[in-house]
Amino acid sequence: MNYDNNNIFAKILRGEIPCNKIYEDDFVLSFHDINPQKKIHALVIPKGKYIDLDDFSLNASPDEMVGLLKGINIVAKKLGISTEIGKGYRALSNVSNDGGQEVPHLHFHLFGGEKIGKMVE
Ligand code: AMP
Repeated sequence: MNYDNNNIFAKILRGEIPCNKIYEDDFVLSFHDINPQKKIHALVIPKGKYIDLDDFSLNASPDEMVGLLKGINIVAKKLGISTEIGKGYRALSNVSNDGGQEVPHLHFHLFGGEKIGKMVE
């Protein structure tokens, strides 16, 4: 499967569609999910064109990998849900059809601000 340049997150990255931005640097963009499932529901996406976590693991550079992981921590801190202040959150990435992925650009969901509950319904 090839990367679809017209997926909604690609459009957000190009500035064609607005987002409620939380954080941006050379490697990641983070914004609030449009349909929050928990009190805090953020998305963290790499700037590179990666379809899902497998694509990223196989093809991203070491800098991009570090950038994404560091970005998740920075966003958690900005949202006040990081372990550094005694809180916590769930980071989750759906991979492809069986994983329930709807948008074909790698993204991590960050759920927090309350007890998140069972891992799988
Ligand atoms: P997934 O099912 O893991 O692919 O999750 C896709 C997520 O993207 C869902 O939680 C949607 O609510 C969210 N989403 C879709 N369009 C937008 C948008 N324009 N801005 C923010 N979040 C979005």
